Amino acid sequence: MTTTQPTIPSAPSTPAQASLYQQLRSHLAVLKLHDAAEHLPTVLDAAAAEGLSLTAAPERLLAVEVDATEARRLAGRLRFASLPTPATLADFDYDAAPGLDPKLITELATGRYLQSATNILLIGPPGVGKTHLAVGLARAAGESGYRTYFTTAADLAARCHRAAIEGRWATTMRFFAGPTCLVIDELGYLALPAEAASALFQVVSQRYLKTSIILTSNKGVGSWGEVLGDSTVAAALLDRLLHRSVVLNLDGDSYRLREHHARGEAPRATTTGTRQPLR
Ligand code: ADP
Ligand code: MG
Repeated sequence: MTTTQPTIPSAPSTPAQASLYQQLRSHLAVLKLHDAAEHLPTVLDAAAAEGLSLTAAPERLLAVEVDATEARRLAGRLRFASLPTPATLADFDYDAAPGLDPKLITELATGRYLQSATNILLIGPPGVGKTHLAVGLARAAGESGYRTYFTTAADLAARCHRAAIEGRWATTMRFFAGPTCLVIDELGYLALPAEAASALFQVVSQRYLKTSIILTSNKGVGSWGEVLGDSTVAAALLDRLLHRSVVLNLDGDSYRLREHHARGEAPRATTTGTRQPLR
């Protein structure tokens, strides 16, 4: 009975092979294909063990680099997106959101609306999942490769205000024009300063028919004049926002309060919240 020594296929057997191997590693390093360089021995082993062809072996090596690059880009996009919570569309409970069509959300999750620069308006009282859906949609957009950014109406207003004072208005406007998907959360919760309406209007105008906005509000569009303190600007803003849009009216009970009830707790006074009538 003969015993065969286990062979290490990637171990270079001649000095010439060793030098070729080093050269290949150095090519990969010069090209900054660090993940491919790191996986070179494994891929060479697999190539020998599986008898990979001359096209299959480099394909497998470069696939390692492509996967790693895509993972880095995705992580970068999601970091830039500044999503405030880990909410995803997958953990949205449709039973708790009567009147919301799961098929429509599934369609929106594909990101097709972004190609037609369609806006999404999520309107409803506090706690019904507006921010959850906005974050989930933004995450889906980021995962599909779209540049995405999350902000609140109050934050946007404050940043535009500072930008105006510090002479960075144009740069700030370019910043808010950049993302393919811009979430503006919580319009209507806080009273906005007087010049906020024009900042918001400019952001909406410059994105009009080019890129999408996902906007959430606890106020029906009829009261945006009050929210923005200027009914003319509100009308012009709505005109652009609604022209190509999907409006989701969420209603029902606050999910936060449902959880309190489920645990048999009395809701805290601060979260009982007076339901804003939607006009
Ligand atoms: P809103 O923005 O409408 O005030 P949120 O999206 O912040 O409400 O929701 C409040 C909390 O309840 C969040 O933690 C959110 O994840 C959760 N929530 C709300 N609606 C749902 C739902 N239908 N399924 C799962 N979680 C939900
Ligand atoms: Mg919210």
